[in-house]
Amino acid sequence: MPAAMRLNPRLFLLGSVLAWLACCVLFAAWLIGNERSRTRDDFTTQARIAYSILTQRAEQQEAVLASLVALEHAMPGNAPVMSNFALSIQHGYPQLVSVERYGREDTGWRMFSTNGGAAAPSRQLDAAADQPGGTAGTQVAVLDDGYRLFRAAGHDVVFALRVSAPALAELAQSGAPSFQSVQMRTADGRTLWRYEHPAAWSPWPALQLEKQLNTRGQPFVMTATHAPLGAGVPWGRLVLGWSILGAAAALAAWSMAQYRSRTLAQRQLRLAQATRINAMGEVAAGIAHELNQPLTAVLANTQASVRWLEDDPPDLVRAREAASGAVQQARRAGAILKRLREFISPHTGAAEAVDLNRVVDDALSLMSETFRQRQIRVVRNMAPNLPTVAGSAVAFEQVIVNLLLNAADALLHVPAPQRALHIDSTLDGPQVVVVVRDSGGGLNAEALARVFEPFYTTKEGGMGLGLTICESIIHEAGGTLGAANVDAGAAFTLRLPVGAAT
Ligand code: ADP
Repeated sequence: MPAAMRLNPRLFLLGSVLAWLACCVLFAAWLIGNERSRTRDDFTTQARIAYSILTQRAEQQEAVLASLVALEHAMPGNAPVMSNFALSIQHGYPQLVSVERYGREDTGWRMFSTNGGAAAPSRQLDAAADQPGGTAGTQVAVLDDGYRLFRAAGHDVVFALRVSAPALAELAQSGAPSFQSVQMRTADGRTLWRYEHPAAWSPWPALQLEKQLNTRGQPFVMTATHAPLGAGVPWGRLVLGWSILGAAAALAAWSMAQYRSRTLAQRQLRLAQATRINAMGEVAAGIAHELNQPLTAVLANTQASVRWLEDDPPDLVRAREAASGAVQQARRAGAILKRLREFISPHTGAAEAVDLNRVVDDALSLMSETFRQRQIRVVRNMAPNLPTVAGSAVAFEQVIVNLLLNAADALLHVPAPQRALHIDSTLDGPQVVVVVRDSGGGLNAEALARVFEPFYTTKEGGMGLGLTICESIIHEAGGTLGAANVDAGAAFTLRLPVGAAT
């Protein structure tokens, strides 16, 4: 029997449940790992899109400022042209709240704006006016809802663009709805704008991408973050996977139960076969009874035949009738004996190569339930790599089972703690030797002399034929079976010559 079947069923169940749980955990880890790397890839792509959108907008703003300065240089102070140009520009760029022109006057800076709103503080305009022209001269001032970009067109004119933070945030997130936060800072760390979704709980560190815009005038730093998984654990697929694993485990358990019950049925069948020696005893007793009648008839017919022949003159007709009656009855007796032989040795035919260790293990396995019930401790000591013997494995198994049954019966006479059964196998020269030894009190002098005699029994309801049949099976295979007393019990020694199959 496979080793797994000998496991304690509770341990086996516990092991199976643990293995199933481990599979579930591994599956969850694999799925979450997969989901996390997919989320990371998606986030990186989305953050790069946001970055290129913001860079593009910053470049546009630079271009607008450069155009305004160029226009001022071409047509200094031409307010109508400038305001038309500013309005048309603002139309195409939704992030621009207003385009402003500041002119220095005696009383201070005078503002023209496409969209009203508060004027920039004079100190910012003074500072901007001091800057050189070109992209290097772009100044930034942070507002509550965005920022202002300044560019001087000479010492007395400054242009400004008011940029809306929500509009930029919306543009940045147009390709990336799953950002947790997106923000832009100046290179020296001032926050220009920041947009944040309420954070979902997540067991994982947030993903983050930080990159400086690739524009000379506005080298701002964009930072986008994303909290992967958390609320986004793929529960649907996880539960589906666990259900499939559960169904697979249930199927495996069902198949295992089927296998066990089939194995149990097979074992019961084999136990019935192995204990057939006992049944044989009963059949033999019945047959002996049946034989009695034809043998008596043979005797009577032969005696009658002799009598008819001794008559003077001999009555040949009657003598022949009596003789053929005897022949008929002898044939009947022969048929009864043939039936008995067939029952005892159903496995006649070519001898096979038999591994006696294996036979012993199979017999022990068949008897294991009896040993467990009777609290018998079994000590098995088998020599490894024994050569095979020639014969019938089934018949040898029947012999060993009968020896084990007798030992188990004898052990019932001693208290449970003293019930021990030893079974050893060794190689002794050209013979394989198996000894079944028990601590059941042993054989008395009469039993020692008569155990192999037919119908010798000390058991209530015993037939006294088991050992007789065992001995004849072993003799037929060229071996011997002996009985002796050892220590506190009996020992039965079976010797079979090493041999190959025929
Ligand atoms: P049965 O089991 O029907 O009595 P067996 O031929 O198997 O027939 O056994 C004959 C007798 O040998 C048993 O009744 C018992 O007295 C004795 N015997 C056999 N094995 C043992 C044993 N291990 N210990 C003591 N007595 C035994």
